[in-house]
Amino acid sequence: MRTHDDVVVGAGLAGMRAAIAAHEAGADVALVTKVHPVRSHSGAAQGGINAALGNQTEDSPDNHTFDTVKGADYIGDQDAIEILCEMAPKEIIQLEHWGAVFSRQESTGKIAQRPFGGAGFPRTCYAADLTGLVILHTLYTVCVKYDIPTYEEHFVTRLVPDSHGGCAGVVSYDMVHGTVETIGAKAVVLATGGAGRVYRPSTNSHSSTGDGMGLALEMGVPLKDMEFMQFHPTTMKGSGVLVTEGARGEGGYLLNSEGERFMSKYAPNKLELASRDVVSRSEATEILEGRGVDDCVLLDLRHLGRDRILERLPQIRELAMQFSGVDPIDDPIPIRPGAHYHMGGVHVDSWGAAPHMPGLFAAGECACVSVHGANRLGGNSLLEAVVFGARTGDAAARYATDIFNGSGIKASPAAATDYEAELKALLDRTDGPRQHEFRDKLADTMQEQVGVFRTGEQLREAKNVVDDLRERYSTVTCEDKGRTFNQSLIHTIETGWLLDLADCMVTGALDRTESRGAHSRTDFPERDDENWMKHTLSYMDDGQVRLDYSEVSVTKYEPQVRSY
Ligand SMILES: Cc1cc2nc3c(=O)[nH]c(=O)nc-3n(C[C@H](O)[C@H](O)[C@H](O)COP(=O)(O)OP(=O)(O)OC[C@H]3O[C@@H](n4cnc5c(N)ncnc54)[C@H](O)[C@@H]3O)c2cc1C
Repeated sequence: MRTHDDVVVGAGLAGMRAAIAAHEAGADVALVTKVHPVRSHSGAAQGGINAALGNQTEDSPDNHTFDTVKGADYIGDQDAIEILCEMAPKEIIQLEHWGAVFSRQESTGKIAQRPFGGAGFPRTCYAADLTGLVILHTLYTVCVKYDIPTYEEHFVTRLVPDSHGGCAGVVSYDMVHGTVETIGAKAVVLATGGAGRVYRPSTNSHSSTGDGMGLALEMGVPLKDMEFMQFHPTTMKGSGVLVTEGARGEGGYLLNSEGERFMSKYAPNKLELASRDVVSRSEATEILEGRGVDDCVLLDLRHLGRDRILERLPQIRELAMQFSGVDPIDDPIPIRPGAHYHMGGVHVDSWGAAPHMPGLFAAGECACVSVHGANRLGGNSLLEAVVFGARTGDAAARYATDIFNGSGIKASPAAATDYEAELKALLDRTDGPRQHEFRDKLADTMQEQVGVFRTGEQLREAKNVVDDLRERYSTVTCEDKGRTFNQSLIHTIETGWLLDLADCMVTGALDRTESRGAHSRTDFPERDDENWMKHTLSYMDDGQVRLDYSEVSVTKYEPQVRSY
């Protein structure tokens, strides 16, 4: 059995940043990832990463904190948000020193910053519209330099508990060789990214299936705030491909079928740069009231001019031409709200530690610290991945070297043998529905019933569908019986997690009888601070979702009316 002090599952921004921090703290740390590190979804991030550098303006971490608290509709944990915003400038400079090439201000040569939604100052650092790709490659080079062992195309299927309920490693399926093994560890960090694939369309890559949340849930670890799914205001019809908020940050307008800049009605001060939940609801309202253009509204960039589009938004232009058949230099892009980012995740503290399973940590989109509350601000997620990735990697290293009682790694290699038997049973099954039938029905139901606006009736309908799918999932069959590069097998296992996560999302949404951030119930249109200033925790008990609640940390900012 191979063992390490720390195993980090996932090699996106959060996973690699955690591994680097753990290595620097002296731990023997390994990365385990189902796709090659530089194919992680972080590489698709376009618009940028926030930090109050104060290069162009009198911005400060305090301003950043307030904007984030307000963006979160007051259920982000303010102590964690303060950490995020305080640490941001240091992390950006660290990334730059490692070689991340950020776009520059021409006049001063300093890192340039663009305006983003819900932000009082231009504080989003960017590398044209390829920010995630640039940072991902930068962190990868650091991992290579530190020679951090990386299990590529290894799919983690189980967490391994020790006899006291602590986390002692993972079971991993090696897709290249078709083998299953236990990798022992003193601490495990989950950094498996988001769960956007619960929906269709989605801006997320096919690998964003919420695996880490599913793994934690199976171990009795609660997930937090699962009902809050962010719908990004500018996604392309059909494909769901994202057009970065940076396009509006650079000055893009939103127009309805009458040519009106309709955001002036909904957010007279911030217009297109109100927070995402507000802009998405405004677009959905325009479309519902008949002022859309074929189920879309229009994003107009023409007035920015050819040079600026080519310099600042080259990828967006290419994507628009490829996926919408529109060159934004000449024509507006039809766009609509689409599933994008999941605010919920594994319930962790501000060091990334999960409750109920000592030695288990989580960071990045699969975790809920919570810094985004009910609605994330654009540019805060890449930031969360690096800031809390670093903190969590550091904490996991300290756990392995100091806190762990030193009597050796306690994972049993038999964990792999047990899983092998499960896998065999799945592959031997010949008669039954295939995974895509479950996945398609699930994603369509979530899109239709658990969208930008939702009602109790819709949520109950979604709950019935999800219950039925979960019940029948025990009969799922996998057509491809091979052991190597069996994508059908991988998708089948991922689908099981997607179903569990959808159950948590729908159950939490049904219970939360108010509207807050991205959770907008037309049957309960008001925010209800008296009853709902709290986080939702979902547990899985004997296959049933059980809800509990936990307090929101408020340090400075009492809830106020939220307008933009
Ligand atoms: C199109 C798009 C654009 C975005 N733009 C921005 C932006 O401009 N600014 C911003 O702040 N945020 C943006 N976001 C959000 C942000 O990119 C993500 O939240 C963030 O990158 C997530 O990083 P992560 O490290 O948590 O996960 P990911 O980068 O998704 O990495 C997940 C890793 O986990 C691994 N993994 C998953 N499951 C398993 C398993 N079972 N076994 C082994 N390995 C596993 C994967 O292989 C991968 O390496 C964007 C998101 C999208 C989808």
